[in-house]
Amino acid sequence: MPEIKCNVTECVYNKNIKCGAPMIQVDRNGTSDADSSDQTKCETFKRS
Ligand code: SF4
Repeated sequence: MPEIKCNVTECVYNKNIKCGAPMIQVDRNGTSDADSSDQTKCETFKRS
């Protein structure tokens, strides 16, 4: 798994501005055909 930088420090998996989850799920967000990263989301996010 590549290193994933993530600024979402309120996520339970975030460790030192990096993702510490063994795997993450990324999905489209509000569209069936994403045109930009704004239209994607991390489904694995969990509030710490
Ligand atoms: S699970 Fe998603 S939101 Fe949470 S630290 Fe990893 S990449 Fe960021």
